[in-house]
Amino acid sequence: MKLVLATHNKGKLEELRAILEAQVPGLELVGYDGPEPSEDGLTFLENAMIKARAAFLHTGLPSIADDSGLAVEVLGGSPGIFTAIWAGGRDNVANRRLLLAQLKDIAPEHRAAAFICTLALVGPNGEASFTGIWSGSIATEERGTNGHGYDPVFIPEGFGVTAAELEPELKNAYSHRAQALAQLSGFLATQGLESL
Ligand code: IMP
Repeated sequence: MKLVLATHNKGKLEELRAILEAQVPGLELVGYDGPEPSEDGLTFLENAMIKARAAFLHTGLPSIADDSGLAVEVLGGSPGIFTAIWAGGRDNVANRRLLLAQLKDIAPEHRAAAFICTLALVGPNGEASFTGIWSGSIATEERGTNGHGYDPVFIPEGFGVTAAELEPELKNAYSHRAQALAQLSGFLATQGLESL
């Protein structure tokens, strides 16, 4: 069965293809080069659905899209859907610096946060979504060089180190994205795409 991944990002396609095709026998994850809609939803779910619906309408094939970000409790769930542009542009260094500055007077026990990833699946007969949540807290300074984005300032629960200090294999086993993908794989392996 063919499934479209609604992203122009080749790296993301390769990464998800390796995981999903290994977990779902008979699945072929293909790329998407059609028009990209504006992500003007107010939640991760709305934005993931906007992207998956656009790919489905353009290709006529069942399509998935993901949307992810960071939610910090003391900031009321922000940066949320603004995670990628928190400091104004798509600049990870500036984003992390701004977040640490905003939390500079907040004690370690009040720095709870979570990475969230929502995957939307859209087909001719219906829609489904899967959400992974990786709980933890925001560090008081950057540590580690692995990973990307906010990894150097995120300490996953149960680990005394930041996500950027974890071995990639460990992050890929526990992360919000891994959790959402595991749910999607389970759905595809048991229900197939026929239900959509
Ligand atoms: P996107 O949905 O892949 O565009 O990610 C949105 C934002 O969340 C970007 O700023 C990413 O850097 C950040 N983000 C999402 N997942 C992770 C992660 O696993 N580690 C670090 N940052 C992440």
